[in-house]
Amino acid sequence: MSGERTAGGGPAVGEGAVSEGVVGEGGVGGVAVDDFYGRLKAFEGRTAAVGGEGKDPVNEPMIRHWCEAMGDANPAYPAIAPPTMLQVWTMGGLSGHPAGSARSEAYDELLALLDGAGCTSVVATDCEQEYVRPLRPGDRVTFDAVIESVSPRKTTKLGEGHFVTTRMDVRAGGDLVGRHRFRILKYAPARRATTAKGAKRPRPVINRDNAGFWAGVAEHRLLIQRCTGCGALRFPWLPGCGACGCQEWETVEASGAGTVFSYVVMHHPPFPAFDPPYAVGLIELAEGVRMISNITGVRYDEVRIGMPVELEFLRVDADLELPVFRGVVA
Ligand SMILES: [Zn+2]
Repeated sequence: MSGERTAGGGPAVGEGAVSEGVVGEGGVGGVAVDDFYGRLKAFEGRTAAVGGEGKDPVNEPMIRHWCEAMGDANPAYPAIAPPTMLQVWTMGGLSGHPAGSARSEAYDELLALLDGAGCTSVVATDCEQEYVRPLRPGDRVTFDAVIESVSPRKTTKLGEGHFVTTRMDVRAGGDLVGRHRFRILKYAPARRATTAKGAKRPRPVINRDNAGFWAGVAEHRLLIQRCTGCGALRFPWLPGCGACGCQEWETVEASGAGTVFSYVVMHHPPFPAFDPPYAVGLIELAEGVRMISNITGVRYDEVRIGMPVELEFLRVDADLELPVFRGVVA
């Protein structure tokens, strides 16, 4: 292994200075960063997809389903398709497009080049659409796509990488009807900060509407609001009753008994002051309201829906105490 990073005469400063002899070890293919970007830039204008054909003609059922899903009651539909459906008519579905009409070799080469430089992750970032004319039921859509641009290396919260923008030209009967630009970030995942030493758990935001709850916690009492108008219990604390609108309320103290109504186990991403994996429970209190809380006393993988739990107060640090629920294993 020691022979891999040959000095090559130059100081090894970051990825850009990896010497010619160190190709393909997750660096940038043995070339300086500027040269690497030049290779990426050379893909601009090359074909990303060619000769694509929509699987279905523009049709009323798909328009109607879209409008229902979007809640779009515009009476112009389905005589025309909502313009934002532009991409819908080009998508291959689960089975994809027939071989040969999918993305081009050039696009695959570009992605492979980025993979080779360590930019192995991908995230879709945004899309832009231009509409030239409405699509109507019966229109048959065809499309081509080009690699429009590759950005210089950028540093993002996810990691360093390059934005790749493809532009799809959508046609019907040979006429351009719209353009769909789609941008991805191909990136090398940043090393996540591990649990920062000394990091504190987030503080609750205490305001006029919930101060009574936290005052209860300070006395080791879990207080639930009860509407004096209709008697409905509510949690979390709110200024008014969701059932009757009444703004007068009193409190009742929870018995502390409850069950796990639902839960998730957090593995990723890590948050400062939290040590994954850990269970986050939605606890149904004996009084009927539910609250989100940590489940203590049992391993994260022993938590089960319906598991009985008991209230306890967890001293997190000098300034913070939280109501949590201890799992009761039968
Ligand atoms: Zn009420």
